[in-house]
Amino acid sequence: MSEKPIGVAVLGLGNVGTEVVRIIENSADDLAARIGAPLELRGVGVRKVAKGRGVSVDLLTDDIEALVSRDDVDIVIELMGPVEPARKAIMAALEKGKSVVTANKALMAQSTGELAQAAEKARVDLYFEAAVAGAIPVIRPLTQSLAGDVVLRVAGIVNGTTNYILSAMSETGADYADALAEAGVLGYAEADPTADVEGYDAAAKAAILASIAFHTRVTADDVYREGMTKVSAADFESAKALGCTIKLLAICERLTTGKGKQRVSARVYPALVPLDHPLASVNGAFNAVFVEAEAAGELMFYGRGAGGAPTASAVMGDVVMAARNRVQGGRGPRESKYAKLPIASIGAIETRYYVSMNVADKPGVLSSVAAEFGKREVSIAEVRQEGMEDESGQRSGARIVVVTHRATDEALSETVAALADHEAVQSINSVLRMEGTSK
Ligand code: NAP
Repeated sequence: MSEKPIGVAVLGLGNVGTEVVRIIENSADDLAARIGAPLELRGVGVRKVAKGRGVSVDLLTDDIEALVSRDDVDIVIELMGPVEPARKAIMAALEKGKSVVTANKALMAQSTGELAQAAEKARVDLYFEAAVAGAIPVIRPLTQSLAGDVVLRVAGIVNGTTNYILSAMSETGADYADALAEAGVLGYAEADPTADVEGYDAAAKAAILASIAFHTRVTADDVYREGMTKVSAADFESAKALGCTIKLLAICERLTTGKGKQRVSARVYPALVPLDHPLASVNGAFNAVFVEAEAAGELMFYGRGAGGAPTASAVMGDVVMAARNRVQGGRGPRESKYAKLPIASIGAIETRYYVSMNVADKPGVLSSVAAEFGKREVSIAEVRQEGMEDESGQRSGARIVVVTHRATDEALSETVAALADHEAVQSINSVLRMEGTSK
């Protein structure tokens, strides 16, 4: 074993940082044997230096810049959170020749280019396995195990909060507001759940996955995003009748036109998923990433997508890799963006759709509604109609659910706009996509 220890600085002592420090301290001998040199904790960056934080107070500092600049620090582990101050700290570390491990998805989805360039210039490692789907190994399989294959599609449930809420709605018939409130009480939803329920968190992860899978730089701004706050208990009832459930999906897809030109689509939205699709059985706060590659076929990665200890596992995997590279020489894979595929607009994306609407209960309504789909070449696969009654028990209209074959988003949007103006349509209740079917 090399005598020279590898110095590490941990920035952040919250849910993840605490577990990372615990593993570094409790598994010191095993880590040293696996790396070929001992890991030595040089300091822990926090906002508030105080006793009783589970780490010797001598190791704590609120001077992040000084900590990442120390000569005896080889690896900086960034676990502070928001884009700033994390970006500044990571850039300073890379510029000083330190390898960096981070779990910061928001930062990686926004500033990969800048950070990767700085890592390249300094010839050091930049690892971020924990930024997508917590403990689940997905960055390394895409970057390394599938490096010789052609990835066609990555579809993931990458946000535990929304999957918990949607699973609860499916199991209990609860509406969105009740399921969200329960998730908050149980600690699965933050006080401000916007980043989760509006799909921003999943969009950041989709950008990271698409960049790696398609060797193209994709940022969160390139990802089409719809949240899941409008999914209703009635949508779940209809989904069940159609043999489906509803999941918030992050989808990254390689699209090939008839002329062989390729583009990339990255999108996040709630979608109907057939019950026999592997993603349909991913419930509660669990995450899963379903990958389709040309030669490998279908692969599914499943596990805990968040939590201090699971996330720390992914962080420590990266730390061991970065430390081994320091001991043995060499570096991990660099950013691969050679393909530079253009990003497809959402209008060009083809999926199946589910449209639920309330209509007047009159003869001829169904055929005139169907005609609006036909005019825009959106072919209907299935229609369900049920009568509705008002409070006095009088017939007040009908609820129609239309499921389409594959159509472009543009054609479907035009159809929905026409239906909204249709004299017999009282309301459009929901429009959801249907994923994971081949028809
Ligand atoms: P957290 O519990 O909020 O902890 C953040 C830590 O960073 C705290 O110790 C805080 O110090 C420190 N910090 C924040 N701003 C700072 C600043 N300006 N200067 C110095 N220290 C600062 O966060 P977390 O849940 O551990 O998450 C850390 C990172 O991991 C985030 O990027 C998150 O997105 C990512 N991640 C988390 C999970 C998860 O399940 N939690 C999963 C995947 C990825 P004080 O304690 O002194 O306030």
